[in-house]
Amino acid sequence: MTVEIRPIGGLGEVGKNMTALGFDGNYIIVDMGIRLDSIMAFEDAVIGEMSRRELININGIPDDSSLRNRKVRAIVLTHGHLDHIGAVGKLAHAYDAPIYGTPFTLELVKRVIREERVFKVKNELRAVMPGDSVRVDGIEFEFISATHSILQTVFVAARGANETLLCATDFKLDEEPLLGYKTDRTRLKRLARDGLLAALVGAIRVDEPGPTPSEGHAKEMLRGAMGEANSTSGAVLVTTFSSHITRLKSIVDLSFELGRTPVLVGRSLRNYCTAALNLGLVDFPPELRIHGRPNAVHNLLRKIEKSKGDYVLVCTGHQGEPTSVLSRIANGQLPFKVRRGDEVIFSASVIPNPINESNRELLETKLRAQGARIHRDVHVSGHAGRIDTKEFLELAKPEHIIPCHSTMDKLRLMAELGRELGYPSGHMHLLRNGSCLRLD
Ligand SMILES: [Zn+2]
Repeated sequence: MTVEIRPIGGLGEVGKNMTALGFDGNYIIVDMGIRLDSIMAFEDAVIGEMSRRELININGIPDDSSLRNRKVRAIVLTHGHLDHIGAVGKLAHAYDAPIYGTPFTLELVKRVIREERVFKVKNELRAVMPGDSVRVDGIEFEFISATHSILQTVFVAARGANETLLCATDFKLDEEPLLGYKTDRTRLKRLARDGLLAALVGAIRVDEPGPTPSEGHAKEMLRGAMGEANSTSGAVLVTTFSSHITRLKSIVDLSFELGRTPVLVGRSLRNYCTAALNLGLVDFPPELRIHGRPNAVHNLLRKIEKSKGDYVLVCTGHQGEPTSVLSRIANGQLPFKVRRGDEVIFSASVIPNPINESNRELLETKLRAQGARIHRDVHVSGHAGRIDTKEFLELAKPEHIIPCHSTMDKLRLMAELGRELGYPSGHMHLLRNGSCLRLD
């Protein structure tokens, strides 16, 4: 049997993840993501209204031309981050194949499809859970639970006659994930026992020497920062990733512990929280208010402005996005003024690219100028550091390693790690987007 690994996007870059796995000429596609910083570089870019070619030309979505005439049997999504699902609206319609994902991932995909204006995406959406296996045209693929910074993330293990390939792009090994499930070490060990031919392994944090701290630790960091911020009677503003439901739950719980009422403000916060609430994945108290519509946001901010000490304002803007609630507050575009005594907590690190870095710096400068105290990096990553990656490789024992989901320097670092673990150089593969690795 001929086994092929065809990276389409996400190698040598951060974003637009997409890989095709082939078994004797039948393929499954794993993930279809966008590269947000490429798209954000164009102020007038509206993804939903752009053509596939326009987006490929600005390096915003993967160039899937090499797959277009191949027998693609399924599109399989590992999790709901946009760098894994954001290109479904532009690319999926070209394949006569259903889309598989966990319920939360599919809820988020439905939004991507709704916002698509150029193409009609009619692929059937099929919900799966960790432990489920699906068989199509000689390929069996299985979903394995993984902890990440978004709920219901999975690894995908795809099997032909005997050969198994594993896609493990985004994960951490977390003993205290707080919400959702742990990475399934037992299943990884069984893959090793039965023989794992190759694994694509995410390298984005492999340069961090220690293990990635748990989400439980992030909650303790927040407890410290929010407690300190609460000691003034001013406003407490917290911003984090809108898709990070576990982190939001910690912020909401800690707000109540401090005797303040949490309110969530911003369109993307409302979208992600509504999806999680509809699926029963989080139990926010019924009185929690989550506002995204402009009128509701204005009214609520006017109310909070009058008694700042009673609330924790959770809002969008962790990367300094110009249209976020926090940026618009800093720009004086909303009825809420930041003053001396107010505290702003960034429960997120800056995703390193020039646009985010300058947006965030500008936002922090404005907030400081208005008198706010800033708490930065009250955050832990959702990605495995070097120690966790090593443990992962020792659990799953793939015969071949394909570092993925990062820039070239980090792909090389993972190759170095592989060599330290005794892998021969012919079993570590530094691939490019658009290339093909055949393993016979
Ligand atoms: Zn992710």
